[in-house]
Amino acid sequence: MNTDANKDNLIKKCDLHIHSAFSDSDATIEEIFKTAKEKGVCAVAITDHDTVDGLIEARKASNTYGVELVEGIELSSQKDDMEIHVLGYFLDSQNPELKKELSDIYILRKERLIKMIDKLKILGLRLDSEEIFEKTKNAIPTRLHLALYLIKKGYAKSIGQAFEKYLSPGKPGYIARFKYSVEEAIKLIKNYGGLAFLAHPNVIPDQSWIEEFAAMGIDGLEVIYPRFSNAKILMYKNMADKLGILKSGGSDAHGSYRDFTKIGDVTIPYEWLEAMKKKKGI
Ligand SMILES: [Zn+2]
Ligand SMILES: [Zn+2]
Repeated sequence: MNTDANKDNLIKKCDLHIHSAFSDSDATIEEIFKTAKEKGVCAVAITDHDTVDGLIEARKASNTYGVELVEGIELSSQKDDMEIHVLGYFLDSQNPELKKELSDIYILRKERLIKMIDKLKILGLRLDSEEIFEKTKNAIPTRLHLALYLIKKGYAKSIGQAFEKYLSPGKPGYIARFKYSVEEAIKLIKNYGGLAFLAHPNVIPDQSWIEEFAAMGIDGLEVIYPRFSNAKILMYKNMADKLGILKSGGSDAHGSYRDFTKIGDVTIPYEWLEAMKKKKGI
């Protein structure tokens, strides 16, 4: 039966992949909710890399703007030499043990950037790791911050070029060094009550890995993402349905740092969020 509520859930839009200034975006939490409201997005997930620090402020902004908040995170994990991102939704973000785990990641990420800078110094670039951490302040240190620093130092003209020349996998400044395997990242999210989703599945080198991750207990797949063709979206939708897992999606907006994707440009129907809530039991 197609009730009005069902229809509403198909029309209402959600953007469940958004970064803030607490990781590698220049958008404040306030700006994110303001934009979501303006764009007619009724629910957003704040999914900063390896941190939940923006979520308290996000709860307030959610009330102010009347835009529903899905508390989230995007955990970096590793399989072979590949960096794999696992999205966590609805996790118990203020749990002190989770915060301790994440503060360990913060330290590792800092060490990783220092090692990357050391690699670039060997190449002859004149860099100083102290200068970069003055900039990151409370944000989780990421390659984006290093890219901005390389631009400031005149070693790259744009963020894209900094990644292309130095910071992407296989480039001279890159180091893959993450605390968790994919299985551990999934477990961590689930241990703290969250739902674990594989982010942007297109970047993994072997699509059969998705089945492996499903066997590890992943709850869902990000099937709608910037620049996905309709054919690709359909392929991932079918894959999620076949594996019996949930579907998510979003803009992966990073403020002005990624100008091809903005909040609300890539959305999913509210009924997918309803399915997530049902699994979570809320
Ligand atoms: Zn990602
Ligand atoms: Zn992301």
